[in-house]
Amino acid sequence: MNPQDLIAQARAQQRTALDEQAGKLLLAAYGVAVPKTLTVKNADKVDAAFSQLRAPVVVKIMSQDILHKSDAGGVKVGLQSAAEVKDAINAMAASPKIKGARIDGYLIEEMAPAGQEIVVGGVRDPDFGPLVMVGLGGIFVEVLADVSFRICPITRIDAQEMIEDLKGAAILDGARGRKTVSRAAIIDVLLKVGGENGLLMQHAGDLTEADINPLIVSESGAVAVDARFILGQA
Ligand code: ADP
Ligand code: MG
Repeated sequence: MNPQDLIAQARAQQRTALDEQAGKLLLAAYGVAVPKTLTVKNADKVDAAFSQLRAPVVVKIMSQDILHKSDAGGVKVGLQSAAEVKDAINAMAASPKIKGARIDGYLIEEMAPAGQEIVVGGVRDPDFGPLVMVGLGGIFVEVLADVSFRICPITRIDAQEMIEDLKGAAILDGARGRKTVSRAAIIDVLLKVGGENGLLMQHAGDLTEADINPLIVSESGAVAVDARFILGQA
């Protein structure tokens, strides 16, 4: 589906955000790698979906009422069989925080290769237009607020500088026995999101917020495993 149609479809359903599946299709349309993902309505449909994926897989709740899926018990990683996937879906459907929500379905996706979790985001500033953001994932963003912003469109040099601006940038070089993390892969994603022909520039009229959290970056590549895009007034 072309990117503008993904946005039009969400608007036609009176939604204020793209669902995760649509968000990943939007990223893929701009060349950002996403896991192979299928959605099912309920546990009965798992066998056909599971057979098309490479285990281990992740199951996630899809609901416009649930912002933080993990907090609601709506993410289960490392599932090795169709039976495990069905159990995870049934447990989610029965859990208190999910029961009362409008459920669109369940996303089943392949696991990304292990790596450092990074956050790439965007916001639309009323004066400056789209801004792109990068941060190191987890506590670096949530507790230390170690993030770096630029006004779009950014150049390759801007993207390099954004990464170097992070106080925790040394983490990317494999501090404390960790593996090194591909800066080139992060720069590539920053350009696809915030560059001249990037996603934020192309959809500046529609998107008020973008959040790839996390982008999992290994020694050789980066995969966006969670994607959220908020739509402004049409
Ligand atoms: P939420 O942020 O809504 O709680 P996420 O989709 O970000 O849900 O999933 C929570 C966590 O699960 C991620 O931060 C990541 O650590 C892990 N995860 C999710 N999807 C994948 C995936 N495809 N491969 C590897 N890890 C994943
Ligand atoms: Mg997330």
